[in-house]
Amino acid sequence: MRARGPQRRRVAGVVAMALVPLTVAVGVAWAAVTDNMFPTLATSVTCWLESGHPPCQTDNREVYFYMDSSGEYELESEDRATVNAAIDGEYRPTDLAFHYDSSPVFEGDAETDIIYQEGSTGLSDGAAGMTWCNALGGKPYKCDQQYIRIRGNGDYTYARVCHETGHAVGLQHGKYSTPVLDNTDGRLGCLVTPSDGHPHLGANNRENINATY
Ligand SMILES: [Zn+2]
Repeated sequence: MRARGPQRRRVAGVVAMALVPLTVAVGVAWAAVTDNMFPTLATSVTCWLESGHPPCQTDNREVYFYMDSSGEYELESEDRATVNAAIDGEYRPTDLAFHYDSSPVFEGDAETDIIYQEGSTGLSDGAAGMTWCNALGGKPYKCDQQYIRIRGNGDYTYARVCHETGHAVGLQHGKYSTPVLDNTDGRLGCLVTPSDGHPHLGANNRENINATY
């Protein structure tokens, strides 16, 4: 974990936004159109354990992930390939460092950060997937372990993995962003709802991630 916390870096990002003409001249630009990184002015300030709340930040930039390889929520090889493709294509180019954790940890204060599952249990009728925090992290706005569950049978798509992984690192829908955007605003990249047809993270989400982690 870095010494400089996410709040300070995000303040720096806002300052940079106000100085775009100057900063462009020196090769630095803040491309974000909205702050959609938890917490925003439109969310709670603390992380909640249950689903149905705005998703909170992962606890640091080193993101360890696991894909269920047996049992009720097992990912088939095709789904595993999709998860890896979306992480490689969208998240590895950010400041987050993703590592596969073949020996996942489910207890203690350093649990595996993201657990990917395939299944529909607990999903509302209109939802293709959901993300929820299972264990709080060190700070009130952080989570130590997030679960991602996405339906199978062709619904485990690159765009949905991009969307739910975004939630697992704290990215919000448009209605929870500051300023508020329509949930279908294309500038939200794969955080558009629904994410079909929007497979890529995009500049706004990338800027928010890099300013936070
Ligand atoms: Zn969502």
